[in-house]
Order: sequence, then C-alpha cells, then structure tokens
Amino acid sequence: MKILCSDLEGTLAPEIWQEIGKEFKVPELDLTTRDIADFDKLMSTRMLALEKNKISFETLSEFLESIEPFDGAKDFLNSINSHYQIIIVSDTFYELCMPVVKKLGNFPIFCHHLKINNGFIVGYEKRQEAPKKNVVKGFQSMDFECFCIGDSYNDIQMIDQSSGAFIFAPQEIRDSRTDIINFDNYNDLRSHLLNE
Ligand SMILES: [Mg+2]
Repeated sequence: MKILCSDLEGTLAPEIWQEIGKEFKVPELDLTTRDIADFDKLMSTRMLALEKNKISFETLSEFLESIEPFDGAKDFLNSINSHYQIIIVSDTFYELCMPVVKKLGNFPIFCHHLKINNGFIVGYEKRQEAPKKNVVKGFQSMDFECFCIGDSYNDIQMIDQSSGAFIFAPQEIRDSRTDIINFDNYNDLRSHLLNE
C-alpha cells in the first residue's frame, strides 16, 4: 500500500485565505504561495491585513463552514482510496481548514496551528521547517512509498523527496519544473495513479 501525500489548497479545495479575502473584501489576502514563495513573509502580510480590518476568529469560523471542496475532489480521493492511504499535507492551519477537510472525507491532515488570543488571530506556529518534505521523509523512514501531488512551489519539496505530480498548477510553476509531470483534471491523475 502506497501513501498519497496531497496538498489541500489549490489541489483539493480553494485557497482558504483567498476565499476569506473575497468574503471580507481584503485584497492583501489574495496572495498565496504562488505569489510569495517565502511562507513567513506571506503569513506576516496576512496577519497584518486581518489586524487592519479587525476580523475576529469567530467571524472567520462562521464563514469557513461555507467553503466547499473542488468539484470531484471527494470522488477522486474515494476512487483511489483502496490503492493509496491518503494523507493531506498542507501549509494551512487546523483552525481554518477542518470544515473543508471534513467535507472531503476527514482524511488525516498535517498542517500548522494559529495562535488565537482574545478572539483574534495573533500569530502562528509552524509545525516544523520544510514541513512537506519532512512528512515524506518520515513515511520513508517507516518504509512507505509516497506519491505527492500539489499545485504550487511549496509542493516541490515533497515531490522531489519521492515522486509526484502537479495538478492545477499555473503555467509559471509548471515552467519552473518541466521535469515534473502535470495534470489539469482528476481523471487523468487517477489513471496515472492507478496505472490504467
Ligand atoms: Mg496548494
């Protein structure tokens, strides 16, 4: 049994920060790892934007319940589940992603934590450095074979650590690594994974 390490945002569900940005009309929240590859820099921008707009965690939580997975994402995961154990590996936060993760079928997810104080997000705690690569290394140390999928720069570290593919990656990310196989729909990726 192999393990499929799948990214969440941009791969199985929309970018959560972008959805928040649209809902609360905060353009700074539209930026993602596709725009700013440096995660800490990206998070500082997000924290500052939330503070400036006085958006509480409770307000965010209510909205998060309305975020839906990508069309076909849940069926895709279910259709490969007897061939791959599925683990979601993401640079999102438990406090933001659990509603959409539940809708996908509640697969295990490894991500980060937000720090919440007096009802507002005040910071974050990264689970570890190079978190995606280290998840794959961990599984390899237990003799598991991993296939990794994602849409952005931060997924390359796990694809390079084992094997994998891009899905829904924008052109500039595909161009940055033409050696990584790319898919633009779940059906083709499924065929590749099941070797059909
Ligand atoms: Mg992504």
